[in-house]
Amino acid sequence: MTLGTLSKMKVKLNEAGEAEYFMRLSSAEVPMAKYFGQTLRLEFTGNIYCAHCGEPTNKSFSQGYCFRHAKSLAACDLCIVRPETCHYYAGTCREPKWGEENCMISHTVYLANSSDLKVGITRSHQTTTRWIDQGASQAIPICTVNRRLDAGLVETALKAHISDKTNWRALLKGDAEPIDLLSKREELIQFLPEDIEYQLDTESQVTEIKYNVANYPKKIVSHNFDKDPVVEGILLGIKGQYLILDTGVINIRKFTSYEVEMNDCDEVSVALPDLKSDSFLSRDESQNYYFDMGKLAKLPRVGPYGTW
Ligand SMILES: [Zn+2]
Repeated sequence: MTLGTLSKMKVKLNEAGEAEYFMRLSSAEVPMAKYFGQTLRLEFTGNIYCAHCGEPTNKSFSQGYCFRHAKSLAACDLCIVRPETCHYYAGTCREPKWGEENCMISHTVYLANSSDLKVGITRSHQTTTRWIDQGASQAIPICTVNRRLDAGLVETALKAHISDKTNWRALLKGDAEPIDLLSKREELIQFLPEDIEYQLDTESQVTEIKYNVANYPKKIVSHNFDKDPVVEGILLGIKGQYLILDTGVINIRKFTSYEVEMNDCDEVSVALPDLKSDSFLSRDESQNYYFDMGKLAKLPRVGPYGTW
């Protein structure tokens, strides 16, 4: 058992180009790789502790804060989701020091293929983290700017030509079709605003990211701790900040600061099958492989929460 408050999962791109995930429960970081193909159980205790002050709050505001801090922290200001409205220069930043450390620093405007082509921005030192958090299968920087405001203005100019949204349902229904991001970048460079100082990232290549997903759900059902405190199912994959279970998907980020108890699969003492081996795959009418739950279900298994 691991008990703690959730943060968005820590991510890492390994040498094989695969996204690796670590569940963060307070100070614990649990590698998720060992849970693939296993029954995972998360139970919300009913407690939510503000990510800033640690005080209990009856509701999570701005993804993980108490009401007071959602209203006072710069990180929770509207300009964070709408960077083109950064008001640091007007002298009205809620926390100028935080603004200097987080907004008045190098930002990258990028192109990503999550469910489809999209433009986005992020702090330059964490591009890969951002791409994995969004479930992008390919991404490439377009340009670098010296502050968040400029990144927002460049993004706004490019939004006239491509989307800035990820369709999360499409993201969880399959792998995105590959896109030639190099030529898309070429096409879009002409639309960069002239009155903004930027540095083109024409040297950087496409980053490809693979996600460990045994099979995607045909119909998406979302788990929600506010409606049902117990989320349980076989972990079929992780993409973006979503756990894909055979019982539904859950966006871990959405439940930042929720206190959750996670079962430890070391408690499951039965040897586990290799889920990617052929013996669990079948073909559908179009000859596409799918993960055959029927075959899996025939295996005798006893876990800490009963038999399935
Ligand atoms: Zn607080």
